[in-house]
Amino acid sequence: MKQVIKGVHIVPMGFANAFLIEGDNGLTLIDAGFPGKESAVFGAIRELGRSADQLKHLIFTHAHPDHIGSAAAIVRETGARTYMHPLDIPIAETGGPFRPMTPAPGLLGRVLCNLFFHPEERLDPVAIDQPLTPGEILPIAGGFDVIHAPGHCAGQVALLWRPGRMLFAADVCTNIVGLGDPVGFENLEEGRMSQRKLASLSFDAAGFGHGKAIARDAAMRFRNKYATRPGEMHQLRPAA
Ligand SMILES: [Zn+2]
Ligand SMILES: [Zn+2]
Repeated sequence: MKQVIKGVHIVPMGFANAFLIEGDNGLTLIDAGFPGKESAVFGAIRELGRSADQLKHLIFTHAHPDHIGSAAAIVRETGARTYMHPLDIPIAETGGPFRPMTPAPGLLGRVLCNLFFHPEERLDPVAIDQPLTPGEILPIAGGFDVIHAPGHCAGQVALLWRPGRMLFAADVCTNIVGLGDPVGFENLEEGRMSQRKLASLSFDAAGFGHGKAIARDAAMRFRNKYATRPGEMHQLRPAA
């Protein structure tokens, strides 16, 4: 398990990342990987010298099989409270099927989308305890801004962890060979807007559903890749 910045650890879940965050009142997990990967999370918790019941919160960036796959098993073992955007909750709570996506432009998108995304897939359903509200600051581990970031998936959110100035970009973009598109889009234009929205934020580190995390100067890379258009600057709520 690798630490990105102080208090944030990457849990490898196959070709997908989950993030384990240390807070004052226990641990928070962002996303739950492919099915059958729950032991990676339990191992990561042990590596921190903690016990499974200290995982208090499980925040989902969106309800795709590679982000909720091991969720039911993790919740059974830990009792963590679950959070998701309302548009994706019905998918998580039935365990699929999933909304269709169009592969991202380019050959790689077509190959990866067909390889990793199967809308008819069925998973263990997971109940969601709390719907996320875009614009809110989730009062967990010092505070996460909840930023709606549709396009790849209608109910997708990005999360900005204020104490560490780290952006969790979900599948708005990947960082496999530099910043790039996710495997597919439900709505390409919305996806582009979400990429520019994240590029307009202020942060130092960034984590991705797929690919390598960036420990510093991440916002600059976003701005270089996704030039923000005037009028698209996204304002976060001032700290209370
Ligand atoms: Zn996804
Ligand atoms: Zn994904």
